[in-house]
Amino acid sequence: MLQLPYPSRRRGGTLVRLFALLFLIAALAGAAALPAYAAADEESGRLSDGDQAVFHALASGKKIMQPHDYTAPKSPTVYLTFDDGPSKLTPQVLDILQEEGVKATFFELGEQVREYPDIAKRVVREGHALGNHTYDHVYQSLYGSFAEFWRQVKETDDIFAGTVGFRPRLLRAPGGTATNFDAFYFYFLDQAGFTVFDWNVDSGDSKRANVPASEMIDTIKRGPFAHEVTVLMHDGTGHAQTVKALPDIIKLFKDKGYTFATLSEQVKPEQFAVTKTKWPRAMPPGKFAKLAADVHGFNPAWQDQAKPASQQVKPVSPPPANDVPLQLRFGRAHAVLPPGSYDLEEGTLYVPLRFLASRLGASVAWDDRTRTATVRAGLRELNYEPNTGTIRAEVAGKPSARIPFADMKLAAGSIFVPLRATLTMLGGAVGGYSMLRDDRYVDIRPGLGAYPAFFTSPLY
Ligand SMILES: [Zn+2]
Repeated sequence: MLQLPYPSRRRGGTLVRLFALLFLIAALAGAAALPAYAAADEESGRLSDGDQAVFHALASGKKIMQPHDYTAPKSPTVYLTFDDGPSKLTPQVLDILQEEGVKATFFELGEQVREYPDIAKRVVREGHALGNHTYDHVYQSLYGSFAEFWRQVKETDDIFAGTVGFRPRLLRAPGGTATNFDAFYFYFLDQAGFTVFDWNVDSGDSKRANVPASEMIDTIKRGPFAHEVTVLMHDGTGHAQTVKALPDIIKLFKDKGYTFATLSEQVKPEQFAVTKTKWPRAMPPGKFAKLAADVHGFNPAWQDQAKPASQQVKPVSPPPANDVPLQLRFGRAHAVLPPGSYDLEEGTLYVPLRFLASRLGASVAWDDRTRTATVRAGLRELNYEPNTGTIRAEVAGKPSARIPFADMKLAAGSIFVPLRATLTMLGGAVGGYSMLRDDRYVDIRPGLGAYPAFFTSPLY
């Protein structure tokens, strides 16, 4: 067949040889890879049948995660996230968040925490959530192998423990997981006890240098406005425009009725689908076994009870948030809520409604039949209905508004309400505060804030 006397014969022969060569290269690559895998496998001898199945599923790109219980919020919720800090810009971000009464999540770099430990402490003190964003953000090393990614996560974890006293369980991949993570990355981090968060709204503030604030706001305005929105922003060096845009971004979500919350292990994480990565990587079974053992050893959930104390991983979660007293300062009058009689959840303080209202000079009555707590201050009245998650406002006996207020809890016969939101409704405001365990207080300014519009413009 190859002897056909056509002019095209030479070309045809070249093509055949080219294909043969390509085939040979492919075969050699396969042959080179296969014995290496087998050798590593034999050498370690660690992969059980179950691990083999996991290994092959991961190698084929299938994501394997432990089952998790997530809690969906009742009201539409936005999670503002800031990556790459702390930096000199972070205090400005914190000031704005404090002014707006909004909590956010900071995915910080180990090297930045090392440089600005006091700013990292302030982030925690003011009730924001922290996450691990690796040590130095260098893609080539982080995505060259999981071993290096893991080394940086652990280094940053130790820096957090030494700086803020706990080990955050949230993690964001530098650049996001898309085309960076494979199924192994997701698997190992999940096994280690980390929750990986991507986002569903990108502010676009790192598309290029100095993206103007107006462009960020326009980008965010396009949504999508899902029930839960995770917004990607940056508080690293060079992101002054993000600081500039932040008040408008917060206003945008407030106007749409969103609640602001911090990310946590209870929030179902946004995660991009596993696709082909842009990084050439190998994961021989021996390496897989070693890394799997390492991430297991890191996660206290997998701890073997029999392990000597010296080998056990230190506690990874902050201590219970409400086991120290909380001081509420009303000018010179101080009131102390003993440990256990308030709640600090995701950076929001919940206090008993009766306790707060009576100290603001309002009267409080509970109607067991309608299951309504009524707070009266002068002609104004707020009726809290924990069953429907609603507050009915009245002025001089006339209904003026129904306010959706899912954020109240009925526990141990008391209604617990978020402090800041409730103060705003009652015409007060929060001054300074500290959430440090050994110095926990809130300065309350009664009557300084304006009454909200629903009191001044009755609907009926
Ligand atoms: Zn980043």
